[in-house]
Amino acid sequence: MFYDVIVIGAGLAGLMAAEAAQRQGARALVLARGMGSLALTTGCIDGLGYIPGTSKAPLASPLTALSQLKEEHPHHPYAIVGQERILDALEHFQELCQVMDLPYTGTFKQNLLLPTPLGTYHPTCLVPETMAQGTLSIPGSVLLLGFRGLKDFSPFLAAENLNLLHSQGKVAPSFRAEALDKLDLGGRALNGLNLAQAFDSKDFRKEFVKKIKPTLRSGERLGLPAVLGLHFPGEALAELREMLNAEVFEIPLPPPSVPGLRLYRKLKMHLQEKGVRIFVGLSALNPLKSPKGLNGFSLGKSKNSPVYRAKAFVLATGKFVGGGLDSERGRIFETLLDLPVKYPKKRREWFNVRLLNPAGQPFNRFGVEVNEHLQPVDTEGRVIYPNLFAAGGIVAHGDSMSEKSGGGVAIATGYLAGKLAAGIK
Ligand SMILES: Cc1cc2nc3c(=O)[nH]c(=O)nc-3n(C[C@H](O)[C@H](O)[C@H](O)COP(=O)(O)OP(=O)(O)OC[C@H]3O[C@@H](n4cnc5c(N)ncnc54)[C@H](O)[C@@H]3O)c2cc1C
Repeated sequence: MFYDVIVIGAGLAGLMAAEAAQRQGARALVLARGMGSLALTTGCIDGLGYIPGTSKAPLASPLTALSQLKEEHPHHPYAIVGQERILDALEHFQELCQVMDLPYTGTFKQNLLLPTPLGTYHPTCLVPETMAQGTLSIPGSVLLLGFRGLKDFSPFLAAENLNLLHSQGKVAPSFRAEALDKLDLGGRALNGLNLAQAFDSKDFRKEFVKKIKPTLRSGERLGLPAVLGLHFPGEALAELREMLNAEVFEIPLPPPSVPGLRLYRKLKMHLQEKGVRIFVGLSALNPLKSPKGLNGFSLGKSKNSPVYRAKAFVLATGKFVGGGLDSERGRIFETLLDLPVKYPKKRREWFNVRLLNPAGQPFNRFGVEVNEHLQPVDTEGRVIYPNLFAAGGIVAHGDSMSEKSGGGVAIATGYLAGKLAAGIK
């Protein structure tokens, strides 16, 4: 089967690349081993929270910090994409989310601090509408509500830690905590996913409001773990706001993340509606190469294995978590095409012995080197396959963990790589 663009990877970078290619009129196909790391994330799109090793305080604006980032890391994916195209890609992402009925607020020009379930903060720049009222610069009183038995969220711990930050003048609102007694989930285990599915039902929401209304004080905002529906979070939010006559917001929980899953599902559905084919769960992709470039992939090694060919390709396979990079004793390698990966020869230089070192872990910046068109290059800077582009975590020099930049880099590079791939005739 022949396509214009094949994207490898169904994470945020791959899905954005497929969307951009499709929008340019390309017939696009996504092939992936698994669903990518969106379900591990908060569902928020981090822009640039920190320049590791320079300051402990979160950056006020990712946009304003770009020039400093470029000085520290001249080959950073953001430096390659450039300011205008980053802004363009993120604006496009927000428009797309609006169309998909999963609105995101915020801008790359300003970081927002959102509460974490442990009562710390997370700098990020685009947030689902359901989290917007949790922004820690909004003053007032907040009731954090938990569900007794839900292990991933203790409202009491979160409120205590956030109040400490409030007393230090680091966050504007003050907090108190309550926990709802055991809820009836029809015999299903009490966890974030099951709660979210329960919140998709109007009847469940009515029952919930009845229980919580007497507890909520006038003028208080209500902060809940991120479980306001897997399919209809907008409807759930609007209804709770109206019935409680209060602002309501979600706090992302540890994985599997309901907001991350919402984004994955919506993007996937949107692409499929637009005619993009998506195959997730593929165990072995074997590249078909010729002296002119990459031709396609076969889904197995037998001569009857299905073969998918295209004019151009986007590699969006992530780093170690996504599966795009792997390591053996003494070697780090790119898993699909064995593209060159630059790393120190001495293994002890891959790691920082202090796990949570503010300067980050060196291995988080490893990846594939690319030129200004996001084409992977060899150690001499020569393009390896003229019809191959790379996007997201697999691109070297970004460190989503310590910079808090993963989603922004995935969108900016994915959007550009998809457009460039669609331009190959
Ligand atoms: C725990 C955790 C929490 C995070 N939280 C946030 C957050 O809140 N906000 C934020 O902005 N960022 C966050 N990030 C960072 C963010 O998830 C990543 O930077 C970003 O999602 C990378 O997207 P990607 O599409 O490049 O790769 P991934 O999402 O990792 O996707 C890689 C895709 O490629 C496929 N693949 C890999 N190798 C192969 C192969 N050989 N053959 C076929 N398919 C392959 C995978 O199956 C997958 O579909 C977090 C990361 C982690 C690990």
